[in-house]
Amino acid sequence: MKVFLNAYKYETEAVIKLFFPIERFEFLPCDENSSDVPDSIVCACTDELYVSADISGKRTVKTAPLPENESEYELSLCRLLFVTLSEMTGITPEWGCLTGIRPVKKVNALIREGCDSDTVYERLRDKYLITRRKSDLAYLTAMHQQDALRTLDDKSYSLYISIPFCPSRCSYCSFVSHSITSRGAKELIPQYVDMLCRELSDLGEILRDSSMHCDTVYIGGGTPTAIGADDLYRIMSTAAKSIDLSHIREYTVEAGRPDTMTEDKLSAIKDFATRISINPQTLSDSVLRAIGRVHSSEQFYKAFALARKMGFDNINTDTIAGLPTDTYEGFRATIDGLIALAPEDITVHTLTVKRSAALFQGADRKALTADDVLSDMVNYAFDALTGAGYSPYYLYRQKNTIGNLENVGYSRDGCEGLYNIYIMEETQDILACGAGGSTKLTDRSTGKITRYFNYKYPYEYISRYDRMTGYKEKLKELGR
Ligand code: SF4
Repeated sequence: MKVFLNAYKYETEAVIKLFFPIERFEFLPCDENSSDVPDSIVCACTDELYVSADISGKRTVKTAPLPENESEYELSLCRLLFVTLSEMTGITPEWGCLTGIRPVKKVNALIREGCDSDTVYERLRDKYLITRRKSDLAYLTAMHQQDALRTLDDKSYSLYISIPFCPSRCSYCSFVSHSITSRGAKELIPQYVDMLCRELSDLGEILRDSSMHCDTVYIGGGTPTAIGADDLYRIMSTAAKSIDLSHIREYTVEAGRPDTMTEDKLSAIKDFATRISINPQTLSDSVLRAIGRVHSSEQFYKAFALARKMGFDNINTDTIAGLPTDTYEGFRATIDGLIALAPEDITVHTLTVKRSAALFQGADRKALTADDVLSDMVNYAFDALTGAGYSPYYLYRQKNTIGNLENVGYSRDGCEGLYNIYIMEETQDILACGAGGSTKLTDRSTGKITRYFNYKYPYEYISRYDRMTGYKEKLKELGR
């Protein structure tokens, strides 16, 4: 499809993608003949706001006066585009034209400005065309973050440790993670663990005289439990020896896939962590097979029971709405099955379509769950989980998520994952170790965030470790 624009490409493209998530676009400058081109969209900001769309033989033109304030041009054009495409396609994405900004961050900013709940709802509706249901979700989530945000010490940071290996590759996955069954990846693990331990020790050295203290630790992947119990223990004990963890309030290990969890690995984790994540994604065995996840729901139940028996009292379980071949009834059974297990956290993701994932190469829209079914799935999750005593406490949206829907973490009161809140609200420095890790430092006086990236792939991380020192000098100034 051709898209003719004279301004605001980034935001208008994001709005168009809400309606045409897997279409490819050709962006062209607009002129007076652009509106005559079949199968095209025109967005122009001249002496008025102008949008025309010609899709499958149907044509609509809408105009609006320029707002008084130039800073409003972009959002007003996006609103006009949203309304036009909604009319033409019959689709009304529930998050309206809010793209690129985290909804809860927006709500928190309004609360900080002193807005009451009515004003917050009014802004979400009038400025971004967000439905009442999603406004409720954003507002409730913001409310459940207030304690975590209030108790945040600005001399604290979170430590992220990356273990980017998995037992095999799930077909919907677009993360940089290496299947240990692939040639070469398994052989890299010993060197990777050596290098990660070296980075943790180096970080401890850099932070030795800093007044900053570690508040939360998160070990993610990949699937951290894809490596052996000894390696896991070595990484966690090196972190504990190198960095002062005496002030931490939370230590999470994303144990991940149930087929990797054994008693010796859980026992290694138990020595350090306060919280783990065991992720079934779905409790349907046929859906698990369809997404290439080589474990069964029974393995998930066994892993969960083992973790409980070993004393883990804060467990998160991840699910995904919109998995291929899943149905509304199947998804509902997953949510109901998890509620019956009573984990402390249940995270409900919506499937994201990334072309780098094997599943989506050559896929068309028809192969994906229809927007209305997906919307019913996530709405069911909200109703069932809040009805069972869980509250939404963090929320984020990603590009290319089907139906423009969201990922939400629900928890029992007092079991909110602090790391999840701080990373999503960008309120705390994150120091990351390991391949693919991204360190994020916030300038306390300006609020400006600077990111520093470790090498993405384990082989680069191992072989070029010494070149990855660009930001270490900055860390030395942390908290001074
Ligand atoms: S376990 Fe997670 S990180 Fe690993 S391949 Fe599957 S989805 Fe990707």
